[in-house]
Amino acid sequence: VALRMDDTLRRAALLYPEVESVIEGERSWTYRQFQEEVHQLARVMTRMGVEKGDRVAVLSPNTAAMLQLFYACFQLGAVVVPLNTRLLPHDYLYIIEHAEAKLFFADDELIPLVEPIVESLTTVTSFVVMPVDGRPATRDGWESYSDLLAAESTEPCINEIAETDLATILYTSGTTGKPKGVMHSHRTLYFNMQNTMFHLGANDSDVLLHTLPIFHVNGWGTPFSFTAVGAKHVMLRKIDPPLIHSLMKKEGVTVACMAPTVLNMLINEPRFVEDKTTGPMRVVIAGSAPPTAFVRTVEQQLGWEFLQVYGMTECAPLITVSPIKHHLLQESEEKRFRMKAKAGIPMHNVEIRVVDDEDRDVPKDGESIGEVIARGNMVMEGYWKQSEATAAAIVNGWYHTGDMATVDAEGYIDIVDRKKDIIISGGENISSIEVEGLLYEHPGILEAAVISVPHEKWGEVPYAIVVLRPGTILDGDELDRFCREKMAAFKCPKGFSIVNELPKTASGKIRKVELRQPFWQEKG
Ligand code: ATP
Ligand code: MG
Repeated sequence: VALRMDDTLRRAALLYPEVESVIEGERSWTYRQFQEEVHQLARVMTRMGVEKGDRVAVLSPNTAAMLQLFYACFQLGAVVVPLNTRLLPHDYLYIIEHAEAKLFFADDELIPLVEPIVESLTTVTSFVVMPVDGRPATRDGWESYSDLLAAESTEPCINEIAETDLATILYTSGTTGKPKGVMHSHRTLYFNMQNTMFHLGANDSDVLLHTLPIFHVNGWGTPFSFTAVGAKHVMLRKIDPPLIHSLMKKEGVTVACMAPTVLNMLINEPRFVEDKTTGPMRVVIAGSAPPTAFVRTVEQQLGWEFLQVYGMTECAPLITVSPIKHHLLQESEEKRFRMKAKAGIPMHNVEIRVVDDEDRDVPKDGESIGEVIARGNMVMEGYWKQSEATAAAIVNGWYHTGDMATVDAEGYIDIVDRKKDIIISGGENISSIEVEGLLYEHPGILEAAVISVPHEKWGEVPYAIVVLRPGTILDGDELDRFCREKMAAFKCPKGFSIVNELPKTASGKIRKVELRQPFWQEKG
């Protein structure tokens, strides 16, 4: 039997037909209804000429229709290409043309983002406007999603596929440069879906709040695993802390994945501070190497278990996971927070090594730094139309992550920095993440980014760019004093900028390339 991603929904529709599957605004679908609409959509796409292997682009926030589109593509063996909602018109033109998409689906509210380029698309033959909050939408030049579905039967519409057939091309965040189209097959996605299900203990009483964009791979680990077990999905169009608070209470949310920046917003949201009765929320999943202090704040202030995961688009996405609470009961609270501040141990059937430049394993001493490389069924098929980049990234089956880490005697991986973000100052390696972690201990600092800037004597030195909490008054001298007390002199930022906002990718990561640019007249 071929592993195929649409099986997750098909099985749930058989096992839990009358269970609520998706909630969006005032609308909701049972698993049976949701699956029926997916069949209708697959029929629409077939009528539009979509065959196995064809690309279908979609620009949408987290909606029921977008999830349906993922499943309809899986059923047909079509390749879904989700588009980041924070790009510029020329980026959309580049990606849709690069992927050679045949159909283009867009959420009604986001169509203005692509209006300037729709005329220039050379491969798209049909344009479809998707509903907003479950309400049908219409637009000139676009066919209406809701009308199209209503005209089709709900009879199953499924093509035969092989598990190695492509299911998606996901463009990376572009944190380090131009986004690359990561190709995943049903097999790689299925493998990760099962792993996520297992490690998060997904079950039919779970309610998943979609706080990460599902156009991005970070948002992909969970939707399919929670569908497979018949859990309830609560869609969320945009990050709105008061709305998140009320949805958690109203729907009984048990699990959510959040970018650290979003968690930071919730920690600072008065409703979460004043009203801790957010119900059965059991775990929040986050990546991006948070400092121990941050893990402590989340667990103590929000009252949810913090689970760190580590992954990347190329690995569909997760490869390590921190231990869940019941495995750590005997540990002291502080030790638990420290363990959770690490990326964790490799997931099931994922092999990980931390190696030096000569491909030798670094000692498992929690200090020696090397690059993380990973092997297993979750590694991408390659970068779409970029065979050279693929050959550089996957060597003998090992995906080279470009992330630097230590590994301790117990096998815990701790991400130190991205290879490209490490600051090499007078021969010392300085982790930008470590310095940021210390800055975060200052009560007046809301966000911090540490980058390398050129220096005549030391080659490079650390430089900090910070956003202050509202109402805080701080200057460079005071920040300098704070750092000197906290860290070795060579790690202290040699300059500070205080800004109102840091440039971020759609997944909420700070775009350090952009921050570095003014200091280095570099390529990026
Ligand atoms: P691009 O590859 O286009 O530069 P990107 O690497 O940011 O963009 P993603 O695939 O979204 O694109 O992000 C994966 C990266 O995010 C990882 O390689 C790693 O650097 C970082 N990351 C993910 N999880 C963690 C974590 N738990 N701790 C530290 N860093 C993490
Ligand atoms: Mg990357």
